[in-house]
Amino acid sequence: MERTQLLSLTQEELAAFLREFDSAAFRARQVGQWLARGASIAEMTNLPAALRARLEERAVANPVAIREHFRSRIDDTEKLLYELLDGNLVEGVIMRYHYGDTLCLSTQVGCRMGCRFCASTLEGRVRDLTAGEMLGQVAAVNRHLEKEGRKVHNIVLMGSGEPLDNYANTVKFLRLVNAPERMNISLRNVSLSTCGLVPQMRAFAKEGLPVTLSISLHAPNDEVRKKLLPIANAYAIEDVLLAAREYVETTGRRVIFEYALVKGINCELRHADELAARLRGLRCHVNLIPLNAVRERDLNPPARSEAEAFLRRLEARRISATVRREMGADIEGACGQLRRRVLKRERN
Ligand code: SAH
Repeated sequence: MERTQLLSLTQEELAAFLREFDSAAFRARQVGQWLARGASIAEMTNLPAALRARLEERAVANPVAIREHFRSRIDDTEKLLYELLDGNLVEGVIMRYHYGDTLCLSTQVGCRMGCRFCASTLEGRVRDLTAGEMLGQVAAVNRHLEKEGRKVHNIVLMGSGEPLDNYANTVKFLRLVNAPERMNISLRNVSLSTCGLVPQMRAFAKEGLPVTLSISLHAPNDEVRKKLLPIANAYAIEDVLLAAREYVETTGRRVIFEYALVKGINCELRHADELAARLRGLRCHVNLIPLNAVRERDLNPPARSEAEAFLRRLEARRISATVRREMGADIEGACGQLRRRVLKRERN
């Protein structure tokens, strides 16, 4: 029988689960505190030994273990490889900023969105992560950072996977990570990035979760967008922008548009003009990301000067924009590449 992942449970669900083992009402509070600290069941030393032994047969505290980590000598960015209970691997990144550490979190093993420049999607989706496996990444990293007296302050759902393609688990994770009995992280410090699944964006706006929504636009029109994102064949850019507008209206928060600059595809000044026209009147910010070249893909970033010209053109059109600074360039650049390297090494 598969063991219950305690980190996937709300405090109420945890209490109900524990009642089968032990009638003491305070157990759920004790176990909840341990879970928040990323402890294993064996480490829950204020539980009777017999209870711990019975729990270990039926449950697991944190289903995520850090297997490898690589720290950048340039900027202290750290890339992590986690192992899940079934042996699957997912990646994470810690970015150390002066205002607090940001964790880049994965929501699926692999991805089925097929974006042309992304390494996470090369072999499709293997499976969704559970809410506990998402929370487990935060718990494992908090323990990892403890030695430095640091902890996760911000979370970006920008690791492997499409969070809105794993909707229920992602929403449950967001409620858990915010819960005072668990990580107690403000949702204002959380960003969710989507390639633009319109119906899920609409539903998500109504969840009452004050996260920042990032939308991977990457193009000013459908023609260019289809060259990079297969999902553009399912949802027109107009509908993605309409859903973004609705999000701003419903939540009162501005949205972020991610725009990977890809040489010869989407970074001419006419593209900047068209993008500015499209975004006019929408409370938003544009994050320009010079493409992180992936070995398996024949796509490249533009020259630095071209990226800057694109930025200046947007600013001249009164669109708030920045070029994202590259971090951890020496420790496996683009998204999803570390896992691929390790998988290949193990197959050989
Ligand atoms: N599925 C989500 C999260 C993906 S990762 C989404 O599509 O938004 C977060 C961002 O990194 C997305 O904007 C994604 O398009 C971008 N990205 C992926 N691979 C990249 C690469 N090689 N270079 C630059 N940006 C990349």
